[in-house]
Amino acid sequence: MKTDVHGIGMTSRRTRERLIQRLREEGIGDERVLGAIGAVPRHVFVDEAIASRAYEDTALPIGHGQTISQPYIVARMTQVLLGEGRPKKVLEVGTGSGYQTAVLARLVDEIYSIERIEPLMKQARRLLRELGIRNVQIRLSDGGDGWKEHAPYDGIIVTAAPAEVPSALLEQLAPGGRLVIPVGGAAMQELLLVQRTDTDYVQERLELVNFVPLVRDSI
Ligand code: SAH
Repeated sequence: MKTDVHGIGMTSRRTRERLIQRLREEGIGDERVLGAIGAVPRHVFVDEAIASRAYEDTALPIGHGQTISQPYIVARMTQVLLGEGRPKKVLEVGTGSGYQTAVLARLVDEIYSIERIEPLMKQARRLLRELGIRNVQIRLSDGGDGWKEHAPYDGIIVTAAPAEVPSALLEQLAPGGRLVIPVGGAAMQELLLVQRTDTDYVQERLELVNFVPLVRDSI
């Protein structure tokens, strides 16, 4: 059983305000991002048994060996993805619970999101629908190949870690676009921002992070 999406109880305004305050202290300054995080009920994306911990700044299990990302990481990656602009079309790899998707859905026009574990994909689809979010399409595939049909993307966000940046994602990024991706081994990775210019790709290293691996089904 899941908590209801309207969230009596756990979503108390004070609890969410405490989380926003903490994100500010950790350096998240983009009011658009803080506003979106304040508006999305994170507790509906986790199991009822741990819903009381949903507004703590920690990753939590969502089954199938996967986790819902820590709010700080969601905020940081979203802030980096937006930059000074407002990407219209975004590709997300690693839908997971759908929480990051729901935050992004408030900030960009269209999202194409890919998940490789079917029950997670179906659950995320259901939750987003119940929350009235309509600008997201989710499909089941290996996100390392991107989603060519809707490319190019103004922004690409990857929430599982490959050993190196998949070339398909670089190809599907529009000139002027931003790719945010953790890259590295199983224990720890580096969060990268890759910006595509008209002629080149420029890579910036942001911070150390800890994501589940990006599992390649097609290679
Ligand atoms: N942003 C999500 C994070 C989920 S964890 C959230 O906040 O809930 C990362 C997710 O990436 C997992 O659900 C995992 O199944 C998925 N994943 C791993 N490799 C993948 C791949 N190659 N393609 C698509 N999804 C993948």
